[in-house]
Amino acid sequence: MHHILKGMRFAIQKRMKNTLGRAGALETAHGVIETPAFVAVGTKATVKALTSEQIKEIGVPVVFGNTYHLYLEPGETVIKKAGGLGKFMGWSGPTMTDSGGFQVFSLGAAYGKTERSKIATHLQHTNKLENVGMLSEGVLAKIDEGGVTFKSYKDGSTHRFTPERSIEIQHAIGADIIFAFDECTSPEAPLQYQREAMERTHRWAERSLREHRRLFSNSHELENKDTQTLFGIVQGGRFEKLRKESARVIGKMELVQPDGSRCGFDGFGIGGSFEKEDIDTVLDWVNSILPEEKPRHLLGIGEPLDLFGAVENGCDLFDCVAPTRRARNGSLYTSRGLIAIENARYKNDFTPIETSCGCYTCKHFTRAYLSHLFRSKEILSNTLASIHNLYFIIHLVRRIQETILEGNFARFKEDFLSGYQG
Ligand SMILES: [Zn+2]
Repeated sequence: MHHILKGMRFAIQKRMKNTLGRAGALETAHGVIETPAFVAVGTKATVKALTSEQIKEIGVPVVFGNTYHLYLEPGETVIKKAGGLGKFMGWSGPTMTDSGGFQVFSLGAAYGKTERSKIATHLQHTNKLENVGMLSEGVLAKIDEGGVTFKSYKDGSTHRFTPERSIEIQHAIGADIIFAFDECTSPEAPLQYQREAMERTHRWAERSLREHRRLFSNSHELENKDTQTLFGIVQGGRFEKLRKESARVIGKMELVQPDGSRCGFDGFGIGGSFEKEDIDTVLDWVNSILPEEKPRHLLGIGEPLDLFGAVENGCDLFDCVAPTRRARNGSLYTSRGLIAIENARYKNDFTPIETSCGCYTCKHFTRAYLSHLFRSKEILSNTLASIHNLYFIIHLVRRIQETILEGNFARFKEDFLSGYQG
């Protein structure tokens, strides 16, 4: 019997004047996400240093797990047996997973943009359909039309991801929103290589979509199985022609179902393969073309200063490891910019990190106490700092959402940016 998909509901509640920005609501099997929204990164089925109760109290709207890491440890079958990602980690709210593509190409762990640029800079020189990318010392990923063969960052064992395998793993992990498998390139990759990678990403997108639909006809084990939704990914680096072409192809991509109906992607991810200064321009190209009625997720970007432009240029969702990673390094957000809490000046500062902040940490502890925890390397420092940073960024995006609805986003942006030192 042909299974009818419920599909995800996304409603735009208000559009900003003269920009692509909008506020909306995205319905998932595990609750509604008010957009724009900041997605907390929970790479290995944990938002580092925080319990699910804490992330709920912070107001996290959705948790973003990582397919590459969860596939390697503990393996998708364990998560499936647990009842899916949310149940496994004791989180009842919405979840997402990426396709694993970015980690396959960048090695995932904590290498950040520099390492990733190095990788793909190497890839660009090979300039062939089949490439060997030096991911880091002695670790290789081999790209071919079928998929990517790579070595585990953990033990060097060899693995292979294809679009079909990525979707199969993501179905087993069972997040509410999943992503098509794509190829990530460096912002510096030349036009010819970006074109090849983008065209391959488009072919992989179609295979991802096909596999996603095929798996729906299989047995239903997870509670959200028939509402799991797939986002396609727009690539194309910093090239206008490619970005626009990718937005057109992915935006319109459809499969004809056995019953004659058509289905496309439920939303879109915008791959972050561009330099920071290009972000707003690229988003304007892409989001002017993508279907307006579907949600858009800007992948891997979400520092305070990037958020305003991303919102104005039509993005609804953002994820970024920065708030929690910075927190663990003792770098804390305030409305005036980041502060390094270990700095001597905070040793005798008995005020909260941010007086106006409503987070648990600011309500109960002082800068002096946090400075002490970091200086003495107490593990509680990670938890208290992560609570604050995540609260700060989530409430900043929530405030952005409110001001769009109220019609005074521009004023809020000006106020915030005039006080914040990047
Ligand atoms: Zn706080």
